[in-house]
Amino acid sequence: MIDEVYLDMDGVLTNWDYQIDFYNARKPTGKANWDKVCKIGAKFWIDMPWLLEGHDLYLGILELQKKYNFKLGVLSAIFSNSGKRGKRYWLECNCPEINQENVIICNRSFNKVEHAKPNRLLIDDKPENCADFVGAGSNAILFTTYKEVLHKLEEKLKA
Ligand SMILES: [Mg+2]
Repeated sequence: MIDEVYLDMDGVLTNWDYQIDFYNARKPTGKANWDKVCKIGAKFWIDMPWLLEGHDLYLGILELQKKYNFKLGVLSAIFSNSGKRGKRYWLECNCPEINQENVIICNRSFNKVEHAKPNRLLIDDKPENCADFVGAGSNAILFTTYKEVLHKLEEKLKA
């Protein structure tokens, strides 16, 4: 039975791509310029806009939570301390419904699987994170559209 739902941040709740371009912190290869992101510090993460689709998802999940009464948390990854601080602050301001005790911020994306449990479900935009979770005997839904994710989530919560 699934009684804990964890949300990824970048690419699910937050618009990371927007922020990277806003701060002109993309390398010609398309990858992030992490030196620049680290120099900007916590502000880079605190100012990040919602992903509009993610905001709709979040509101829908709060509705489902009333019906199915699961624990709602966040499972995100950033290696820097300023990033961890910034992400937690963003959640405090934008997702006050999430208890900070249920916020896990690991160093790297591949560390997320260390938090996989049979009663948990991860919603993430990276197929490899979802595959790792399922491979570890947990549950995952790949973030596509908020409607599709909410539908899949309700099916799993009902099961
Ligand atoms: Mg992500």
